[in-house]
Amino acid sequence: MTTTDSPLPWTPVPILMYHAVEDETRDPKYKHFYVTASVFEWQMRYLQRSGYTPIHFAQLAQAMVDGVLPARPVILTFDDGYENLMTNVYPLLGELNWPYTVFLVSDRIGATSEWVTPEGYDASRLLAWHHIHEMAANSRVDFQPHTSTHPRLSSLAREALRRELVDSRDLLSQNLGKEMNVICYPYGDHNDAVVDAARDAGYTMGVTTDFGRVRAVDDPLTLPRISVYHVPPVSLTYGIGTLNFDWRVRTRKDNRPLPTAALTPAFR
Ligand SMILES: [Zn+2]
Repeated sequence: MTTTDSPLPWTPVPILMYHAVEDETRDPKYKHFYVTASVFEWQMRYLQRSGYTPIHFAQLAQAMVDGVLPARPVILTFDDGYENLMTNVYPLLGELNWPYTVFLVSDRIGATSEWVTPEGYDASRLLAWHHIHEMAANSRVDFQPHTSTHPRLSSLAREALRRELVDSRDLLSQNLGKEMNVICYPYGDHNDAVVDAARDAGYTMGVTTDFGRVRAVDDPLTLPRISVYHVPPVSLTYGIGTLNFDWRVRTRKDNRPLPTAALTPAFR
């Protein structure tokens, strides 16, 4: 694996967005909620073989200042904190000794993802505190907030918005004994008011569901990600599943416009 830190130019950083990692394939309507454990393991081994170096958000924040990154950086994120991370993610990423980030819904710890039921999905079990403490003690996991109750933040009045951002962070920080500064917007839902509220609450980074890899010019409070979800081994829509993953991580073009005014010569 390449560990040489290369100076500029900046390598666009893929932030992979996972949700649940299931033992078995689920009904097709759940495809955006999961990958299977066997596919997940293949993907991690693929990243390892290909010389990727997973990093934490703190390293990304520093790199957005000084441009120093490993040759093939990647960030692994898991939204909602599903209980099956305990069996299907934590042992593997512990073995690899890789950093990863889990975004927790602070008022639903030890309960279920009940916010999906109004949309016609079955809720799933979420990590309990004893799982969270075990993962924190034995792997390079970084827990960060995903609000208190998983609402659509742009629909909230100012005080409710503030509470979702601040209370979730404070509860998790107190229980885990560390500061937290990365917010994951539920449903990727954010607008200027939401981002301003996150900044006011003390967050320095935020992740969305916008598609793309992180560029040095991006706003740290609206970072794009690359969604990884269930793809059949071979399908007309996705082609061959393993090649689809490679394409998503490495080669798919980023459609977001470049804020040219913000470009410094080093990053052009
Ligand atoms: Zn979520």
